[in-house]
Amino acid sequence: MYSEKTLNHFRNPKFAGEIKDPDAVGEQGNVKCGDMMRVYLKIEDNVIKAVRFQTYGCVAAIAASDALCKLAESKTLKEARKITYKDIVREVGGLPPIKVHCSVLGIDALKHAIDSYVKSPKNQEGKESKGK
Ligand SMILES: [Zn+2]
Repeated sequence: MYSEKTLNHFRNPKFAGEIKDPDAVGEQGNVKCGDMMRVYLKIEDNVIKAVRFQTYGCVAAIAASDALCKLAESKTLKEARKITYKDIVREVGGLPPIKVHCSVLGIDALKHAIDSYVKSPKNQEGKESKGK
């Protein structure tokens, strides 16, 4: 059912874990298979310096979470917003059609994290003071 790349992300997730003192956190769940994902971001100058995930869910959700983190790391917030579930599906070497919704989970969690970061008054001030 799953590709070797998917299973590899599932068995050896490089980004699993938690960031202490993160700059942003995003959460998303889906009811279809009860997956739940939380993504942690460390952000500096609008670049994602570190990203970790905690996912409770099916093989596809965990593999997709790890793939998302790999794609998001070192990207600017703007670039990270452009990641789509298609990029994730490609990164995990394809997903069965009934499992594609699991790859959307991470996209939404990441967007929530970025939104909460951008909307925070603290970070808006920071943006202005950096206009050198
Ligand atoms: Zn799932």
